[in-house]
Amino acid sequence: MTAAATRLAHVRAEITRAARLARRDPLDVTLIAVSKRRTAEEIEALIVAGQRDFGESRVQEALDKWPALRALYPDVRLHMIGRLQSNKVAEAAALFDTIHSLDRSSLLDALAAAPHPPPAYVQVNLGEEEQKGGVALADLEAFLAVVRASPVALAGLMAIPPLGLEPGPFFAFLYELARRHDVTGLSMGMSGDYSTAVMLGATAVRVGTALFED
Ligand SMILES: *Cc1c(COP(=O)(O)O)cnc(C)c1O
Repeated sequence: MTAAATRLAHVRAEITRAARLARRDPLDVTLIAVSKRRTAEEIEALIVAGQRDFGESRVQEALDKWPALRALYPDVRLHMIGRLQSNKVAEAAALFDTIHSLDRSSLLDALAAAPHPPPAYVQVNLGEEEQKGGVALADLEAFLAVVRASPVALAGLMAIPPLGLEPGPFFAFLYELARRHDVTGLSMGMSGDYSTAVMLGATAVRVGTALFED
């Protein structure tokens, strides 16, 4: 096995283990390989090992790397996981299959204006951190209503827990918010905490380091 295949097998096994512990079906969890700042060669090694969902955090970087890779591997799915600027939305809507960082009306309007807007997760600012993207908790209910009335399909909720704090309670809270607002998708969990996220209901985990570094 290549190093990339070994890392991929390990992460998949962890997801399966965590899902079983929580009496969940591992197939209900999508593993997104976060390939920001990784080269086309590093990415291709994972594709060859069988990985198909990839996440990028910058539109320009994704435009530089993915059209060539996609020509070779047309069944790859691309996820935009980073902060999105309104002036990049048209390009993002054309390139990405899913957006994980919808957090304001101006973005929603720009997405809705695209010919085929991809489904979007609403990002929630769980830690009420000023520098972080995401809808404030107080605005979530109203924003979800606006998204539901728009042409953009609501994929679920997404969050990045505050650094340095135990992530579990934040994942549990995001799960509760999703339940309360009748949302099914939950994009949560990164290299350090994806097992916890899967146990607490994640349907998409965004894993970079654990898939690309030994
Ligand atoms: C970089 C990034 C990840 C992946 O982080 P790792 O710790 O390398 O797994 C996940 N989600 C978002 C939003 C990111 O920016």
